[in-house]
Amino acid sequence: MSVEIVQKNLINILEAITEAATQRCRLVAVSKTKPAELIEACYAKGQRHFGENYVQELEEKSAQLKNSCGEIRWHFIGQVQSNKIGKICSSPGIYCVETVENEKHATNFDKEWAKQQKPEKLRVLVQVNTSSEENKGGILPGDAPKLAEYIRNNCANLRFDGFMTIGSFDHSHSDGINPDFQSLVGVRKQWATETGESEDSVELSMGMSDDFLQAISQGSTSVRVGSKLFGAREYKNK
Ligand SMILES: *Cc1c(COP(=O)(O)O)cnc(C)c1O
Repeated sequence: MSVEIVQKNLINILEAITEAATQRCRLVAVSKTKPAELIEACYAKGQRHFGENYVQELEEKSAQLKNSCGEIRWHFIGQVQSNKIGKICSSPGIYCVETVENEKHATNFDKEWAKQQKPEKLRVLVQVNTSSEENKGGILPGDAPKLAEYIRNNCANLRFDGFMTIGSFDHSHSDGINPDFQSLVGVRKQWATETGESEDSVELSMGMSDDFLQAISQGSTSVRVGSKLFGAREYKNK
């Protein structure tokens, strides 16, 4: 074969590998505190999944972008407050709530989503506090499979879609295997063993700007990247 053909083959193979890798792990672009124009810019390049963690921002941006970005899929990744569940459910394009941590919230989401009368179920992830830090949301790893089963058995309008963790700052800034990610993998394995479902049938949402490659190497199927994409966040004094 000629040099040109071999080089062309090389590029094609590398592109195929990139394509295969992209299908194994999704990017959720975390746009909190960032303006709608930057979301539109990413959407124009094919990005569809975006994450917000303040309800008010989700409401505003989802309303603003519902026509120009008709296929957008919003992920709510902030701490859930009971009185905001209705607002999350009525935000146009809401696709997944990644931060369900107890039965009460799951039941509320189920009721509120029913009112929306949408053809698709609302996807939910069970947030797991893998680092046992008091300031982190999520259910303890040992209790997470049971909450997943609660959702599957009692919330007809929700689709249990996997587990999510944030993990500790220290773990994400040290080298080697991240114990938080390892813990989340173990939670999913436990759930799969108890239910007879396959592990691959649900997502693992783990990995952010500083540790998404490590998360992928440990089996993440959905990384949530904010500052590395949009730049550092500036918080207004409210
Ligand atoms: C803000 C946020 C992210 C993105 O964090 P970066 O470090 O900026 O990538 C991911 N997940 C959650 C839950 C967040 O609140």
